[in-house]
Amino acid sequence: MARVICPVNSPGLPANLARMNLLEVRNLKVHFPVKHGVFSRVNAWVKAVDDVSLTVAPGETVGLVGESGCGKTTLGRAIIRLLEPTAGSVTFEGEDITTLEGAALRERRRRFQMIFQDPVGSLNPRMTVGQIIGEALDIHHLVADEQAREQRIGKLLKDVGLDPQHAQRYPHEFSGGQRQRIGIARALAVEPKLIVCDEPVSALDVSVQAQIINLLQDLQREHGLAYLFIAHDLAVVEHISHRVVVMYLGKVVESAVSKAIINAPKHPYTQALLSAVPVVDPDSKRQRIVLPGDVPSPINPPSGCPFHPRCPVAEARCKTEVPALREVSAGHFAACHLAK
Ligand code: SF4
Repeated sequence: MARVICPVNSPGLPANLARMNLLEVRNLKVHFPVKHGVFSRVNAWVKAVDDVSLTVAPGETVGLVGESGCGKTTLGRAIIRLLEPTAGSVTFEGEDITTLEGAALRERRRRFQMIFQDPVGSLNPRMTVGQIIGEALDIHHLVADEQAREQRIGKLLKDVGLDPQHAQRYPHEFSGGQRQRIGIARALAVEPKLIVCDEPVSALDVSVQAQIINLLQDLQREHGLAYLFIAHDLAVVEHISHRVVVMYLGKVVESAVSKAIINAPKHPYTQALLSAVPVVDPDSKRQRIVLPGDVPSPINPPSGCPFHPRCPVAEARCKTEVPALREVSAGHFAACHLAK
């Protein structure tokens, strides 16, 4: 299969990562109709994801960052087909999965899983941990008999740092961090290649966050997993990601290897996100950039550069001219007229 050239595919991947993409998202759009009146006429569209392209290589972690409402969770859900895309394509392991349905989609879903922000809401409270993990094994016929099933569940619990005896317990008997570990074990049960991690640590204490991130990194090394790691906090993404993609109002505004994003962000929005990350170095000159207002409504986004009403360095042309996502230095893309 010919390799697709993607504007958000960085050449700066670590040498040990394969060059063939595991996931390729091309010009993906997820637009929701806003209906009105007794006839439910569509009178507007929410452009939650608007023309997004990105790639993830095997064994790679791509961090997807932006404030709440920028479309990152919608994008994650559309990629694993929990939501129907309006346009564009999602290619996984060389196969276009955008229009797959029924049994074919279920079969492919084994290869891409999702873990959620809220481990409480995503685990059935009436099922034991063993049943929750076992269900995934049963759906995909991954174990031959009851003994193999029990062994596999025990091994998965061990892999995520839990006691195999915990299989008999219910989700409410665990702490938040332990419940997230159960969610990870359930995702791992079907031996995926890619896990979309939707804010997996944002509901946890800082010390527990570090444990879960370390666990995800260990599992990545052990199983060769790729992650699309969604977060609103650059501090979290910085530690786990090989590359970072920054979204604003449904669009990618910057993308590069993590080091480049952290050391030399090009887009004023990324600069503002980064300025909120606490710095340990007392000599650091980093100044906090406080953005005015919230992310505007995607129903009626601002003209020109969608960031212009909040941008501290906006110029007159920013109100009328839409900045293209362009390569401002090798493998570093930004959608800003002033980026260089
Ligand atoms: Fe700011 Fe203009 Fe760049 Fe948009 S294009 S980020 S408004 S300077």
